[in-house]
Amino acid sequence: MVQVARRIELLTTGIFSVMEAKKREVEARGLPVINLGIGSPDRPPAPHIKAALRAGIEKDVNYRYPVFEGCLELRQAIARWYQRRFDVELDPEREVLVLMGSQDGLAHLAWAYIEAGDLALVPDPGYPIYSASILLAGGELYPLPLKEENGFLPRLEDIPAEVARRAKLLTLNYPSNPVAAVADRAFFRQAVEFARQYDLLVCHDAAYSELAFDGFKPMSFLEVPGAREVGVEFHSCSKSFNMAGCRIGFVVGNQEVIANLNKIKSNIDYGVFSAVQEAAIAALEGPQDFVRENAATYQKRRDVLVEGLAEAGWQIPKPKGSMFLWARIPAGFSTSMEFALTLLEKAGVLVIPGHAFGAQGEGYVRIALTQEVPLLQEAVARIKANFHF
Ligand SMILES: *Cc1c(COP(=O)(O)O)cnc(C)c1O
Repeated sequence: MVQVARRIELLTTGIFSVMEAKKREVEARGLPVINLGIGSPDRPPAPHIKAALRAGIEKDVNYRYPVFEGCLELRQAIARWYQRRFDVELDPEREVLVLMGSQDGLAHLAWAYIEAGDLALVPDPGYPIYSASILLAGGELYPLPLKEENGFLPRLEDIPAEVARRAKLLTLNYPSNPVAAVADRAFFRQAVEFARQYDLLVCHDAAYSELAFDGFKPMSFLEVPGAREVGVEFHSCSKSFNMAGCRIGFVVGNQEVIANLNKIKSNIDYGVFSAVQEAAIAALEGPQDFVRENAATYQKRRDVLVEGLAEAGWQIPKPKGSMFLWARIPAGFSTSMEFALTLLEKAGVLVIPGHAFGAQGEGYVRIALTQEVPLLQEAVARIKANFHF
């Protein structure tokens, strides 16, 4: 067999397949597993979004290759949504690019900016593509530890000056996966200042900007003066509008970065199915009460789990945003993996061990709020019945 490229070995097949195999084992024993592992929205998109997709499917012209950068109508809708939602003005022709899911842009940005030996600052723990994309491009990682005592914000002031000078990219993600933290204006200002000082490209992943609780409204990184000179912001229709399977997202901000990413992508893919783009226009321009109801759904689920598990003696902070709980493992367990496997075996509840997202995730598990309340109540009942933390 032909020798596989070395970069393949840089990629991990991941904890997800390990947990999946264990899940099948537990289910074979007759215990149906409650899966709180996957970060995929479980509810469908709003009816008007599905209607737009159906209408789009009927149009013969939509079966041609779409425009690389996304149809202008969608880019205009994105710019209008940004104006309404964040009071940020964008040029739809130069500062907006449609993506096949934000993952597409997050994965390919490194191809445009990272050469062999280049350094990138990435959150630890963090969403896996941030580091995978750098490694695939031949770059090196400098993990930024996200610690509970710092509100899971990286301490930029602790980064050695020689590291900051060498680095090209700074990745941020608020509200975050997996740590479920949020950032305030002061932090984003500091990030822009830091990027200016050291000539860094900031890549802010705002996939959870519409999933926030208790009245909290996440801001755009681009609201900070000077942000668009140093960076771009990624959004996803997957979480905001329950369209994960449609594969559509977008990136906005610095026009040079947008142009370079578009150049890479136009050599790789030919854009998103036009019917899906039309559904995204409906999502952005249509009624937004559905978006608020969606956040309220996750908030309710958060409360059921956090309050129920507290009764079992497991104290977990209530996050202000995202789709996850980030929970310290209870006393008596030495690793995230040990705890996650015990939880799965005894209670049939699947969560993801924190070290899957980086070394600093050890000692935590990620619990996804992607099941309905009755199933979450069942998970709580099973945990209470099997554990005394
Ligand atoms: C789910 C998720 C994404 C989404 O990706 P799409 O490709 O738009 O589906 C991006 N970033 C984070 C942190 C996520 O959790």
